[in-house]
Amino acid sequence: MELTHIEHIGIAVSSLDEAIPYYEDILGLKCYSIEEVADQKVKTAFFKIGQTKIELLESTDPEGPIGKFIEKRGPGVHHLAFAVNNIEKNLEEAKQKGVRLIDQTPRKGAEGLDIAFLHPKSTNGVLTEFCEDKNK
Ligand code: ZN
Repeated sequence: MELTHIEHIGIAVSSLDEAIPYYEDILGLKCYSIEEVADQKVKTAFFKIGQTKIELLESTDPEGPIGKFIEKRGPGVHHLAFAVNNIEKNLEEAKQKGVRLIDQTPRKGAEGLDIAFLHPKSTNGVLTEFCEDKNK
């Protein structure tokens, strides 16, 4: 595996409009991007702290993954994303080591990153994402 840092932490929120003021007014971070990822049925808001981002996720459809997550568990930490070099190789290695993959091959996520998820059943309950910035 070649993990370089925590790329972002994904947090499910009921509403971006309600959640953003906490990060801006209380924590003093600045939302630098809001983006809809139609594929994932979410609207995302990004903050940066050091090398790491916080990705707030608001569902745009109750049947989408974040809609279902919030219905079942309420708002809160949703996933942890590691930046990796060579996402295909890391996925293959995880698979060979018996990790259950949600994405067999990478797909496009927010900010144009290549992303893939590992199943929380194989990661001690933490939905885990690998991401690689191939535009870098
Ligand atoms: Zn993510």
